[in-house]
Amino acid sequence: MLEKKGFALKVFAGIIVGILLGLLLLFTLPVGLQPGDTLTATLLDESTIEIVLPAGKEAGILSIDGTDSDEAVKTAGVAIADAPGVINEALGTSISSVKVKDRTGVTIRPLVTELTYVGGQIFLRLLKMLIVPLIIATVLIGIASLGDIKKLGRLGGMTAMWYIGTMLVGTAIGLTMVNLIAPGAQLASQWSSLAKDGAIADKTASELILRIIPTNPIQAIATLDVVGMLFFTILFALAMLAMGKRRTAPVFNFFEGLNDIVFVLVGWVMTLAPWGVGLLIAHTVATQDVAFLGTMAESLGKFALCVTAALLLHWLFLLTMVKVFGKYNPVTFVKRMTPAMSVAFGTNSSSATLPVTMECIETMGVSKRVRNFVAPVGATLNMDGTALFEAVSVLFFAQAFGVHLSLGMQIVVALTAVVAAMGAAGIPSAGLVTMTLVLSAVGLPASKVGLLWAIDRPLDMMRTVVNITGDAVTCRIVQTLNPDLRPEDDDIAEEYEPIDPTASHDDI
Ligand code: ASP
Repeated sequence: MLEKKGFALKVFAGIIVGILLGLLLLFTLPVGLQPGDTLTATLLDESTIEIVLPAGKEAGILSIDGTDSDEAVKTAGVAIADAPGVINEALGTSISSVKVKDRTGVTIRPLVTELTYVGGQIFLRLLKMLIVPLIIATVLIGIASLGDIKKLGRLGGMTAMWYIGTMLVGTAIGLTMVNLIAPGAQLASQWSSLAKDGAIADKTASELILRIIPTNPIQAIATLDVVGMLFFTILFALAMLAMGKRRTAPVFNFFEGLNDIVFVLVGWVMTLAPWGVGLLIAHTVATQDVAFLGTMAESLGKFALCVTAALLLHWLFLLTMVKVFGKYNPVTFVKRMTPAMSVAFGTNSSSATLPVTMECIETMGVSKRVRNFVAPVGATLNMDGTALFEAVSVLFFAQAFGVHLSLGMQIVVALTAVVAAMGAAGIPSAGLVTMTLVLSAVGLPASKVGLLWAIDRPLDMMRTVVNITGDAVTCRIVQTLNPDLRPEDDDIAEEYEPIDPTASHDDI
């Protein structure tokens, strides 16, 4: 499916059309109130006024999640928080709150925006639906078909080394950029007093470690706890290896069948990729808040630039690695990975992209045994982009709080950023959630993390692309370093003959 000519191009076209549609929705179709619009206002009580928007108009809703979140609704360019003041001044009233009744009429914009949402979510949910069977079946088959535990040790060791190594390089690139650009410095005059305002969740690190072991594997599956699921599956597969092929043949054959079926489903879902990716992106762009971005533009803009430049550099570094150690042409690599990168860009989720990533990896001469182990583990644990982003963000906050972090402290940031990235799930904005771990490691408060939510979407799109690129690059490198695991030998199912029911237990 992915090798079909023009498929990658179609998915890429989906991105472009999605961005254009999103911009159209954002800027040209009827947006919010214009100066001069007449509103019907009712005084509900002495202190509350209710505004009913005219049909066909809507108030832009800006909600800033996070610690110091103040939810605001903008009406005709006036933030709802400022609206009482403006109204009191004009009318001589003394109200203190304004309620807005939104969407009194059907307008094209919300309708189209809603359609882009539903369409995109259909694609995303179909992909997510495949995560559980895909991870379980592929990891199990990947490990069990290695044949002996030594091979697994070698493969596992190499994979861990590349994953952790490249994440550390990512944080180093990020830290260099953020030290050079210093995007947080200009906020220091306002924020420096906040630096001491409280330690944050110090339990995070131990929680993160304990979370790896699920107390109930079925619950881990049901709640899509990918780390717990992976842990159980790896142990299960190790037990299969230890027992030997013949005794575990029925289980192996079952999961191999499941694996094949899931990939047929992946193929079906992928036919929707150009549409799904386009709609997801259109919705993201259409629901951005331009006004908010404007107010924070300078400092956050510099921060975004810093993250983007560092991610780009790291992406180029990964392509260099695939050339040098994976002996693979980076241009071909990018071509082959375009569908997966597009889906990562649209979904902001390495886990949701995993089915596509695996299909793309298969087109690069990587054996199923390498791919089935390295890629699912990577989608869950290997997050170069996230580690880089966390390191840059923490330094940004340190600069904004006026706290100088020595080289030693920056090394602590790099190391904890890698741990926090490994602990982050492959879902949208997960990196922001585990960031408190890194902040607490260097004693900074998390009170301003909420600010980053406002600009996280585009940054998350890019770091998710880098995350899955790292997985694919490592797959290719591990393949090159293990020439004995040839793709031609993938069909090892015949080694798993069903058990002869007439044989005595000792024979088996
Ligand atoms: N969205 C990222 C991923 O799925 C995780 C993150 O950095 O938030 O890979």
